[in-house]
Amino acid sequence: MTTIGTGRCPICGLDGVPIKVSKKNHLYLVCLPAADGGCDSQAFARGPHSDQRLAECVTKWSGKEAKQQWLNNAPQPEPEPDDLTEDEPPPPPPPAPRPRARAAPPRPAPKKPAAKPAPQPAKKKGGWLKWE
Ligand SMILES: [Zn+2]
Repeated sequence: MTTIGTGRCPICGLDGVPIKVSKKNHLYLVCLPAADGGCDSQAFARGPHSDQRLAECVTKWSGKEAKQQWLNNAPQPEPEPDDLTEDEPPPPPPPAPRPRARAAPPRPAPKKPAAKPAPQPAKKKGGWLKWE
């Protein structure tokens, strides 16, 4: 694949490691074998952020075009929305849940005064015992 230059290995810091473009159009580097002073690591970018980080590792670009294409290629962070900058007090917290009052037991119905026995008509003295 296309070599965009050589750079510093992000793992061991060895300089002069070739940095290339993969088939998926992302940067990658393969460090040198340990016998050659490297660390046997590989670093593959999978998105624009890691492409940018690997491009920053390049110390010697193969050409201006490659540098323009890969360096400062990371997407800019989105500006913060304006409505978040207002100094608005946060809404008051909801009232703490109070222990629910237990339902009062049903009150006993007020006692009615005992109905007085209807006054009996006074019997005539002697009443039915009296012979007419
Ligand atoms: Zn290395």
